[in-house]
Amino acid sequence: MALILITLMVILAAGPTWSAPSIIQMRSEKKILLAADELYCSSWRFTVETNDAGAWTRVPVRCDDFVKDYITGDLYASELEAVAANAAEYARAIGISGDGRDAWVFDIDETLLSNVPYYAVNGFGSETFDAHAFNEWVELAEAPAIAPGLRLYKELQELGFTVFLLTGRDEYQRHATERNLMYAGFNNWEKLILRGKADEGTPATVYKSEKRKEIEDAGYIIHGSSGDQWSDLIGFAVARRSFKLPNPLYYIA
Ligand SMILES: [Mg+2]
Repeated sequence: MALILITLMVILAAGPTWSAPSIIQMRSEKKILLAADELYCSSWRFTVETNDAGAWTRVPVRCDDFVKDYITGDLYASELEAVAANAAEYARAIGISGDGRDAWVFDIDETLLSNVPYYAVNGFGSETFDAHAFNEWVELAEAPAIAPGLRLYKELQELGFTVFLLTGRDEYQRHATERNLMYAGFNNWEKLILRGKADEGTPATVYKSEKRKEIEDAGYIIHGSSGDQWSDLIGFAVARRSFKLPNPLYYIA
């Protein structure tokens, strides 16, 4: 009896030490892999935001969860707040003349309006862009405001800036875009500029530069510009200061 008991105790004692290392090892290997993905994807996102990544059509496969977690988590919201705070601080310090010629240019998608509800059911940047599906979403005119963007927009207007909206959306989407902007709380913009027939096929950087040039040629000083893509901000007739908002969901050349 004593021998059986001792044998049982030995088996029980040996059990965990015999099986536990493999589980612990698997867990730690998974942790190492997750940590490696986290590091890789964090660095990838940095290169996107600094415009080092160049053209890309989808989020790297290993970063699918990372991007989803980033967009739905606190960091994206915090970064949007931080950039808006920088822009507001700059705008307050300018001391504009108040003659109506002091302008600010806003992009729309992922700058004033959030398409996160669309991307939430379309893979958070892990799927190839589907223009048809996205345009259907645009027609719904239900994109919510990016809260810090709306606050900045309102403050700029109170400070006396003339606001221009410059979007890569097409002219036929004007009505839906206006409807959506008003639904989200935006109003009193000076001009909403969309891609017309003549702008078809023009790269975003060129199209947006040309339109900013027209604003300048009309006598406005573009003090600031806000956009989630570098193509919203660079090229020619650039704003005196540009404010790049985060966006790891998609890239527009
Ligand atoms: Mg945009």
